[in-house]
Amino acid sequence: MPSDRPGIPARLAAVHDRVADAARAAGRDPREVRVLLATKTQDAETTLAGVRAALDLASAAGDDRPVLVGENRVQELVAKAPALADLVAAGRVEAHLIGHLQKNKVNQVLGAATAVDSIDSLALARALSSRCERDGRTLDVLVQVNVSGEESKSGVAPDGAAALAVDVATLPGLRLTGFMTIGARLGEPRDESLVRAGFARLRAVRDAVLASAAPGTSDARELSMGMTGDLELAVAEGATVVRVGTAVFGARPTPAR
Ligand SMILES: *Cc1c(COP(=O)(O)O)cnc(C)c1O
Repeated sequence: MPSDRPGIPARLAAVHDRVADAARAAGRDPREVRVLLATKTQDAETTLAGVRAALDLASAAGDDRPVLVGENRVQELVAKAPALADLVAAGRVEAHLIGHLQKNKVNQVLGAATAVDSIDSLALARALSSRCERDGRTLDVLVQVNVSGEESKSGVAPDGAAALAVDVATLPGLRLTGFMTIGARLGEPRDESLVRAGFARLRAVRDAVLASAAPGTSDARELSMGMTGDLELAVAEGATVVRVGTAVFGARPTPAR
């Protein structure tokens, strides 16, 4: 099903309304929660339509922070990079990798990404860091945690997450900015308490790492959690970034991973 591009601004505005409602219900400032556009399977034009809608909304709200775009696959990130390059260079867009990264794709991803949100091993973090050091740059990273324990999901187990983060934070080429998770599948009947407990777990990991005051951890504030189906639960548990695809672009032609 091709995306209905003209509908994107209205759908993105509706997502922002959902986020704002959830934030207020939780006693939070809606501006604490940013929307990352999850653009997997969308072509470059549709991705740009989402970015333009997000820039318009931000400028109407007097918000000059960059628009966040996230891709799951390195190949897709690289393919769409030229379409976003000017906006990335101007600091208007951040391009995030939000899917699993294999070490042999580190060079490719560094050519296209502003941030890698899916750090799940020290070996991967070291490979990224040494390449960044050689290039004289710093890469923002999140540690991905598998809070649900579902085997289909990547990320480090919650028990090892804080230790991994503390190690990652010491690497000279990386800046640890927080944590990411994919919530437990909302079954039928919807088990919201299970999903919320997973998000609360991520927040607890973040709080423990910040409280450790270990070297390099002081910027690790972000909690990237919540998608189209569960963003209200994530915002209630402290999300600072929600990653939204379907609610903005419509259903994907192939099932989501
Ligand atoms: C696809 C995807 C999303 C967005 O999911 P929707 O349900 O379409 O909003 C968010 N995060 C990750 C890691 C994804 O792969």
